[in-house]
Formats: sequence, structure tokens, C-alpha cells
Amino acid sequence: MTHRTKPTACTRCEKTIDACTGISGTNAPEEDDITVCFYCQHVMQFNKDQSLRDASPEAIEETMLELSRIQNALTRRKAGL
Ligand SMILES: [Zn+2]
Repeated sequence: MTHRTKPTACTRCEKTIDACTGISGTNAPEEDDITVCFYCQHVMQFNKDQSLRDASPEAIEETMLELSRIQNALTRRKAGL
């Protein structure tokens, strides 16, 4: 589900971001949630007021590990394991 957010600039390309679409659940973004800029794919995190900041290296690493786990689960499911 797409949510309108407080208009804020991407920290890299500075284009205005005023919406986001979650990949799981239907809740509005919360503080520390990860988002990717639609225009330049920069990885950021939401602040409590829905403004954006550069994602911390720890948050990026955690997200990459989770994506890897999901990809492995999908590969195993596809292979019937
Ligand atoms: Zn951007």
C-alpha cells in the first residue's frame, strides 16, 4: 500500500519524496524503516517526523542479510526443498 509522507528531499539527488510503498504490511513508515529513493536508488531511513536521513551502515547490512535470507528461501521453495 502506498502512503503519502511528509514531503522531504532525497539526501543524495534532492528530489522531493512524498510517498512510499511498503514491501510487507500496510502500515505507514515508522522511525528507522528503510526506504530507497525512486529516482536515484539511494538507501535512507525515516526519522520520527517522516523526514529522511542516510541509512546507517548497520541498517544497510541488516537489510542486505534479510534480503539474502528471503532470496535463499525463495530459491529453496522453487527447487522444492
Ligand atoms: Zn534520490
